[in-house]
Amino acid sequence: MDDSVSPKTAPTFHAQAHAQSTAEVLEQLDVSTHNGLATAEVELRQAQWGPNTLPEARKTPALVRFLRQFHNVLIYVLLVAGGITLALGHWVDSGVIFGVTLINAFIGFIQEGKAEEALNSIRNLLSPKAQVLRDGQRASVDSRALVPGDIVFLTAGDKVPADLRLLHAHNLQIDESALTGESLPVEKQLAPVSASAALADRRCMAYSGTLVTAGQATALVVATGVQTEIGRIGQLLAQVKTLTTPLTKKMARFSQWLTWIILIASSFTFAFGIYVRDYSVAEMFLVAVGLAVAAIPEGLPAIVTITLAIGVQRMAKRQAIIRHLPAVEALGSVTVICSDKTGTLTRNEMTVQRVLIAHHEFDVSGEGYSPHGGFSEAGQEIAHAGIVRLEPLARACLLCNDASIITPADALPGQKTAPEITGTPTEAALIALAMKVGLVPSFEREAWPRADVIPFDSQHKFMASLHHDHQGQGVIYIKGAPEKIITLCQTELTLEGPRPLDPEHLHQLIAKVAAEGMRVLAIACLATDASKTALTFADIEQGGFTLMALLGLSDPPRSEAIDAIARCRSAGIRIKMITGDHLGTALAIGRKLALDDRIEAMQGKDIDLLDDQGLKAAVKDTVVFARTTPEHKLRLVTALQANGEVVTMTGDGVNDAPALRRADVGVAMGCKGTEAAKEAAKMVLADDNFVSISAAVEEGRTVYDNIRKSILFVLPTNFAEAGVILIAILAGLALPVTPVQILWVNMITAVTLALALAFEKGEPHLMTRPPRPPAAPLMNRRLIGQTLSVAGLLAIGVLGFFLWDLQRNDNLDHARTMAVNALVVGEMFYLFNVRRSHGRILSREGLLGNRVALLAVAILLPIQIAFTHWGQAQALFGTTDISLASWGKIFVFGLVLAILIEIGKGLARRSARALVQPA
Ligand code: ADP
Ligand code: MG
Repeated sequence: MDDSVSPKTAPTFHAQAHAQSTAEVLEQLDVSTHNGLATAEVELRQAQWGPNTLPEARKTPALVRFLRQFHNVLIYVLLVAGGITLALGHWVDSGVIFGVTLINAFIGFIQEGKAEEALNSIRNLLSPKAQVLRDGQRASVDSRALVPGDIVFLTAGDKVPADLRLLHAHNLQIDESALTGESLPVEKQLAPVSASAALADRRCMAYSGTLVTAGQATALVVATGVQTEIGRIGQLLAQVKTLTTPLTKKMARFSQWLTWIILIASSFTFAFGIYVRDYSVAEMFLVAVGLAVAAIPEGLPAIVTITLAIGVQRMAKRQAIIRHLPAVEALGSVTVICSDKTGTLTRNEMTVQRVLIAHHEFDVSGEGYSPHGGFSEAGQEIAHAGIVRLEPLARACLLCNDASIITPADALPGQKTAPEITGTPTEAALIALAMKVGLVPSFEREAWPRADVIPFDSQHKFMASLHHDHQGQGVIYIKGAPEKIITLCQTELTLEGPRPLDPEHLHQLIAKVAAEGMRVLAIACLATDASKTALTFADIEQGGFTLMALLGLSDPPRSEAIDAIARCRSAGIRIKMITGDHLGTALAIGRKLALDDRIEAMQGKDIDLLDDQGLKAAVKDTVVFARTTPEHKLRLVTALQANGEVVTMTGDGVNDAPALRRADVGVAMGCKGTEAAKEAAKMVLADDNFVSISAAVEEGRTVYDNIRKSILFVLPTNFAEAGVILIAILAGLALPVTPVQILWVNMITAVTLALALAFEKGEPHLMTRPPRPPAAPLMNRRLIGQTLSVAGLLAIGVLGFFLWDLQRNDNLDHARTMAVNALVVGEMFYLFNVRRSHGRILSREGLLGNRVALLAVAILLPIQIAFTHWGQAQALFGTTDISLASWGKIFVFGLVLAILIEIGKGLARRSARALVQPA
């Protein structure tokens, strides 16, 4: 690669880092592994190197985006018509035709811009963080603030934030497919490689944009931003996603189909007019164009896009961030939500409430992560002398632990400030426990420094750490799921000394504590000799540990999740809980959450015994899946989908990624989730809360409803216009509405009335009806019926006004003005019919519930009055003044129309209910 194109004149380090020893690179970048960079130095380097970002993908120029709006069959037809009209010298008509296409393109352009803006702003909410060592402290910073010389920590699931030289690695594996195309993860090591090694062979480096799939590492930033390999190959930030979804594709196909029908109908009318009714070719051409223009719903594609974009924004407000636009639609038809337990359905605020040591059973008091609390046994408070005997256990809890509790020091006396934690709540709870026993975390960590660690993962369900005291005595602590730990133990510690382990009795105890909904952890120890400095899985598997205690941790369900689950259930969506936790705990929590009337449960090991067919049958009624590993999730999603379900699956770890990708809507946790999970997910929860999933489902349903309502609004008006012209030609009448007038109506209602429906809120019954079958057509029989009958009523009204007025006044312009206004006012009233597909419109909500709709009417009315009474408009559109009484009649027509449609809706609903047809 040619270095001379590098945009900075300062030396680049990354070219050689892979061939240098860690000491050399550290020296070159002038940083100590002990303290990292100092803040002042970071600022200097930020000024020198700039932010750690890649240039954004170049935006499509505005002109191109504008022109793209014309790329639509419907518009092509209009443009051709406009051109021919112009050639025939009808400049007003062609002017209005071009005006309509322009305005339409303009609306589309603005709306698409807004939609993309909305998606982009949401994307910024997901900016990744990096763990760095600065000023001797571990801190979490925005990845964009990294500079060469920063020391960063990597763990499984992280996205590598910059180009890094590894300093220390433990079992590190990285998926570099983003950079090299190689899909298998690469195992990393520390030794330098040859200077000429290819990117894929530089095993001591980690490159920006790749994903850590296993292990941990400490590493040195050697290049940031455009200096990184990914920056140098000119890769740009994820391209703005296109705004197409299955629904927009369906719409495009629908448009094409409609265009053909319209073209055929227009040609037929053209021929009929000339041969049967003896119109002139030029005259008939205008009429045919008018018909085509009337029938073409040119505003629809833009409405669909804006409705989707508004949905995305609403979801973001409710903490559900969409990464992939089609998910908005899929959410509307979700039938099963598979959710994690800890943190999503429960609060993830762990407190150790029970300590079981041999035949002693202690209750622990105190709330949250506060270090204050006492111990009691059978209701009797334990005195200080008794508590001292818990010290070895408390020490194990502290040392085999990566969390910490930060008690706010600056709290005013009497003011209650909750302590903050870093690390996982499960581990923070153990620290609080140790502090209640009286240990000081910093002192213990100093006295028993940690030599090595095997971090917790949901696959193995334990964590182990190796420590030495200053006399060189070694000890391995291990904590984790009790079934696992017990198999590794030989003896059990009592307060009086060790005794042989009684697994049977222990399992009874575990079941008892789990049945109370507590998470159970076992903790054990093993003495080792001083020479041992590294910990491997083999050290653990050989067993011989001594069980120190069983701990019961409470993690109450989120009260708001209980309501959300009830809502989902009434909406015909089933909730399944998938957890790594103990069966008893999971069942107890599942009951508290009322996941289902009857909760059937299954364990990961039972899943392993089933083949795909067996699992497919088993997932139907099983609600709780306990002691699962992430691999089970993929099988569960697949089995559910095989049953025809539309599946939402949550996840947070690297291993959850395949299941998230496979699910119809993969949902990653925004707070505790890894970057790997977020990248695989279609939606990210900003607050990790189940409630946000149900909110997103609700908004997804609303989006679909609103799109359907827009179609239900636009199509009947188009059909009515076309119908009126068709009837007039077939019957040999003068046109009740001229082509320019039709264009005017389409243009003006598209920018006002039709748009209002995109802002419609969800209807009250939204979450009491069953999910929409994903294959169900956009328009069912009832809706097609509504479209046709409304089109018929409108056409009758328009024709009626025209013929009646023509007979009374014998003035064509006057009759046409009446007809056009009847059409517009009729649409205006119909808008309110469409707003509610189930509720009544004759209510406060029904009439005033959508401010945008009211605004649209408020804008449309004066414009329509100007269209009718203003001299210039009259000259252009051939309108004339009409009397106040005529306006009155037109409004009465609108009102009658709305009432008739409302009655029709009621009848259709009743028969639909009889057929149990989903709305
Ligand atoms: P969940 O589905 O509830 O998130 P996890 O996979 O986090 O389940 O945990 C599964 C089991 O692993 C827990 O029941 C507990 O016994 C054990 N465990 C959880 N966290 C830790 C930890 N930090 N260290 C050791 N063991 C843990
Ligand atoms: Mg977990």
